[in-house]
Amino acid sequence: MAPTIYLAFVDDWELSGNGSGDVAELQFRPMRELTKIYDARGIRGSFNAELMQQLAFRKFQSAHPELKALADQWDAVVRETYLQGHDIQLHIHPQWSKAEYADGEWRLKGDWSILNYSPDDAYQMMAAGKEYLENLLRPVDSAYAAVSFRSGSWCIAPSPHMLGLLVRLGIVFDMSIVGGVRYETKNINLDYTQCDEDFLPYYPVMTDARQVSHKVEPIVCVPTNHFYGSRRQVLRHHLTKATQRLLPKPATSTDARSVEAYGQEWAQKAHASPIARLYEKGLVPYLKGKHLISDLAQLDYSLLTEMLASIRRRATASGLEHVPVILENHTKDIRDFSHIERFVKDVSQASDIKCVTLGDLAKDLSKGKFQIRTANS
Ligand SMILES: [Zn+2]
Repeated sequence: MAPTIYLAFVDDWELSGNGSGDVAELQFRPMRELTKIYDARGIRGSFNAELMQQLAFRKFQSAHPELKALADQWDAVVRETYLQGHDIQLHIHPQWSKAEYADGEWRLKGDWSILNYSPDDAYQMMAAGKEYLENLLRPVDSAYAAVSFRSGSWCIAPSPHMLGLLVRLGIVFDMSIVGGVRYETKNINLDYTQCDEDFLPYYPVMTDARQVSHKVEPIVCVPTNHFYGSRRQVLRHHLTKATQRLLPKPATSTDARSVEAYGQEWAQKAHASPIARLYEKGLVPYLKGKHLISDLAQLDYSLLTEMLASIRRRATASGLEHVPVILENHTKDIRDFSHIERFVKDVSQASDIKCVTLGDLAKDLSKGKFQIRTANS
């Protein structure tokens, strides 16, 4: 019998990593557009609200009333989305910890990786974010709790203390592991190319979430999905994107500017050895297909279809009856909603897929609905 896939549509909801961009344009408008698509198909989505940004807006709001207006609107949009049945969970980008605001622009001076902060500082940021979210949503739902975590820029491992801190905060599961990812940029250094488990839920080694523990642990990792796109579709997708780049830019340049900034902030440092580079860019994609994070904003409809086929293949191969899968999305990066709209329609009509929120997943994990791997199972 085909397994049932419990699919979570998850979105990291935030401004650009360097603090640039317009909150209404990159967050409020696309979130409403996305929830409209979900609502039309009876699907409940989840948003990982980035809280350090909101806390920075609040910190500077008395000196800059325009920030107060936007922060109030942020609260209202989050509450409205939650009341529609969608979920809101915790996301933290520590680069906002040393934010400065001048001439209408943010300058973020904090380190991008939470792994580089002391346990006290990391705990402070996550606790403040969780508290803000719960204070915002408990008046409309007394049972609300932040139960899942995705770390900014995926930074969760290795760390002697991060998972322990999440346990202290009452977090049920983390979804910051995404198999096959490796960043060596000016802001981030991480290597998830050697993960023990990159598809199913597991108990992590408490000091290194990339490894599966031999025993039951107080927190679960559910990887964010990734897959390997066929060369043909990836090439087609890139050609379309390149063509779009040649078209005239929209009248408001906020959008275009923030995307450029995103590109620079995330540019990989050149590898020392040209052979290693050739191997990664040329040979590996040829053998396995191109590694892609299941980030809906970055995929067109044909790649989304390949992604779903990969999820079904792996769920079947697991031999399990119930398989939870977590997707990624970035509202700020969505250029054309029609691809997501078609994909959401397909998913809503599939008899082997149930759409769940992160809160649903936390409950089901706690109830034992899903098998959670240890190194012996
Ligand atoms: Zn983020």
